[in-house]
Order: sequence, then C-alpha cells, then structure tokens
Amino acid sequence: MDSRKVADCRRFPSEKGCSVTIAGPEDEVLEVAVQHAVASHGHPDTPELRQQLRGMLEDEKPAPRA
Ligand SMILES: [Zn+2]
Repeated sequence: MDSRKVADCRRFPSEKGCSVTIAGPEDEVLEVAVQHAVASHGHPDTPELRQQLRGMLEDEKPAPRA
C-alpha cells in the first residue's frame, strides 16, 4: 500500500492565486511540487524548499463515490 499525498497550492502563500493540486505517491508529489514551485512560482530549488513542500503534504482523502 503506498500512501498517496496531496500538495495543495492554495495552502501555499502565492502572489499568483495558484490553485493547483498535486496528488500521488509522496516522492512523486514532492518532485512535481518542486518543479511546479520552481517553474511557476520562481522559487529556487533548494533543500529548504523541498523541506517546506514536504511539510505541506497531506494525506489524500478517499474520492467520494457518486
Ligand atoms: Zn502553484
């Protein structure tokens, strides 16, 4: 069982009002979130950024069945 994580950009201070949500296995979410933060938000790719992003990850809530 891999635990899926969510990084919600709305929880991250942003001057762009970004509302992207990234979901998936923790390592992949972190990698995509780093790329997104660098490409879309102009953050430098640093260990501190990764630390900060990792701290943002939340457990993915099960999708509601319609
Ligand atoms: Zn964003």
